[in-house]
Amino acid sequence: MAAAYPPTLTSDQLDYLTASFTDYALAHGLVVRPPSTLTPSNPHNCLATPAPVTLFPSPFPRAPFDEARAIQPACNELYARVAHDEAWLGALTQELARIDDFIGKLWAVHTRLKASTDGGGYHHKYSLGLIRSDYMVHRDPRTNTTSLRQVEFNTIASSFGALATKVSDLHRYLWLSGAYPPTSLLSEPSLPRNTALESLADGLAKAHETYINDVAPDRNYTLPSTPPSTGPTSDYGIIFIVQDGERNAFDQRWLEYHLTHRYGIRVFRTTLPDVRKYSYHIRPNYELLFVPPHALDPQRQAVFEISVVYFRAGYGPADYPTQDEWTARHFLEESRAIKCPTILTQLAGSKKVQQVLADRGSLARFVKDEAIANRIYSTFASIYPLDTSPAGLHARKLAFEHPAKYVLKPQREGGGNNIYREKIPEFLKSIDEETWPSYILMELIQPPEVDNIVMRGGEMMQGKVVGELGVYGTVIWKDGDDGGVEVVHNSEAGVLLRTKGSSSEEGGVAAGFGCIDSCVLV
Ligand code: ADP
Ligand code: MG
Ligand code: MG
Repeated sequence: MAAAYPPTLTSDQLDYLTASFTDYALAHGLVVRPPSTLTPSNPHNCLATPAPVTLFPSPFPRAPFDEARAIQPACNELYARVAHDEAWLGALTQELARIDDFIGKLWAVHTRLKASTDGGGYHHKYSLGLIRSDYMVHRDPRTNTTSLRQVEFNTIASSFGALATKVSDLHRYLWLSGAYPPTSLLSEPSLPRNTALESLADGLAKAHETYINDVAPDRNYTLPSTPPSTGPTSDYGIIFIVQDGERNAFDQRWLEYHLTHRYGIRVFRTTLPDVRKYSYHIRPNYELLFVPPHALDPQRQAVFEISVVYFRAGYGPADYPTQDEWTARHFLEESRAIKCPTILTQLAGSKKVQQVLADRGSLARFVKDEAIANRIYSTFASIYPLDTSPAGLHARKLAFEHPAKYVLKPQREGGGNNIYREKIPEFLKSIDEETWPSYILMELIQPPEVDNIVMRGGEMMQGKVVGELGVYGTVIWKDGDDGGVEVVHNSEAGVLLRTKGSSSEEGGVAAGFGCIDSCVLV
């Protein structure tokens, strides 16, 4: 019989382990800002608390883990192609835009740019995707077999790569240091180090290099092969567009620190409402110039040309409370800087696109290699439209007659937006039937349960949990000479394991439902 996992601990062992755990998390920046309910008085914003994390790495089957990583470059390319196919994406998006105000506004930024007369609306040549494909292992209760199933695909603000790397390091430390009691499950090959932090920062750095070589080919800029010993010398920089009061700021900061230390690249942070205070364009090429706020003193004037705009905000309506934020988004989109993502890439990540791609014919449009298309296709769960097509009418029937098998998803990101199981009929009845097509209906994946202990806000919870594996990818592309996509960089970029209580419907860490984990491969 297999030994119990996680191993049973005496209270002394548990105290030792949790002290090691907490100190490691605090010492290594595996932290988030505390919720205001926990620390109502944090006037200088100088408090941090360990991020919600599992005490042990969770068992995850090796074969689906390897397969999810192996197909990531193909998924990267698939979404680059979708984002590039304006006619196809536009047709889908325009349908949604009529009934979904947020999608409509995103699309309007694109169409306004296309229609602009002063030399054409778009000025960037390359696009960058820092994306994450999320999966669960599905256990078929009838056959008791398991397979990989995609939950969703994220093309904007895919977060937690840095903290997931720190969790992998934390779990490896607890194992190496002997803070875990001996267990046969943990070994060097079963605890692979995650490199999402470095890999995602590398993707940003690669885009930075691509930009400089495109706009200033005579500089022959190459990323330093070893960390530079001098401070940043280049007058190019990257901006992160962030949310005001972001609790998950350290996950973003780690990317910034890696870009600074490893590559000597300057990173600036700003919010959508503040963008226009510190930046402007130069016509006719629309270079995006950024004047760091601390250099507003004219004696020390410093102006940086922005190579890459990395959005960790702007993925949902709450980030656009007024027209000013839309104006700022348009301003950034119009610039020559590489956007991560562009509006079109953001739209390519909509749930609607995932539903349409779950149809084999649509997938074949973007993935020509049949063997690769089959591998990607085999990760798709059934997803249905809720429109008045025959498939949509069939799905409406499923939603009302068998809701327990399904989740209903609007075109939103960031967690907390879905409607589950029995709540679906009641919800659909409560909204205008005209808007039903802005939702998709997805078959629920049933991941196997494992045991673990979750550490959240200083509290410990032990019980049955389920995991969701995210695989990151970085991809840079431009228009090819043949009218298609020319991919100039494409890489798998590490993983995220998020774990939630098995009875909880959502797994979002930032949304307060889950925690960050790492994989012990079994
Ligand atoms: P978001 O873009 O808001 O993250 P998701 O599609 O990832 O939306 O859904 C949020 C969460 O809901 C997921 O992390 C997962 O826990 C759960 N979920 C979504 N789709 C399914 C599904 N088909 N089966 C089981 N759980 C799901
Ligand atoms: Mg998700
Ligand atoms: Mg998402």
